[in-house]
Amino acid sequence: MILEWKDKDMKGKGVGKEDRNTNTGWFWHVHHDVLLEWCYDYEERKKYIEEEKPEDERELRLRLFKRVEGEIPKELDEARKKYDEAEEKYNEVWKYYEAGEKYNEAEEKCEEVKKNYEELGRKYDEVRKYDEEIKELHKKECPGCPWNGWTIF
Ligand SMILES: [Zn+2]
Repeated sequence: MILEWKDKDMKGKGVGKEDRNTNTGWFWHVHHDVLLEWCYDYEERKKYIEEEKPEDERELRLRLFKRVEGEIPKELDEARKKYDEAEEKYNEVWKYYEAGEKYNEAEEKCEEVKKNYEELGRKYDEVRKYDEEIKELHKKECPGCPWNGWTIF
């Protein structure tokens, strides 16, 4: 996969974190099978790799996991922000649902959430046009990388 909107292990946990956290941003190789990903917490992910990943994978994972230095296409970055907002709304609905209250509000928000995700699906297809640009930037910033289009291993 070329692109993930967000650190796929965080599942909504990192939303809104980036203002306070300089560990946050676009990173190369957050996961072995994604080239470019929005990472909410570099230090946390690094620690996880150091402690939980198989020992013989750690060196390579840590060497390649680094912040993007160059410019990310604005449209892509904006779509990413939208993803965060959509997820925030989703979390809100989920909270109501779990608490078993505010059904009307939850229902209304549910519709909104659905629309948001549909829009993001379209957006994701749209920003595929930047794939080549991303790959070019990667080539510059990650020389000698074993990434083969699917994985670093
Ligand atoms: Zn690389």
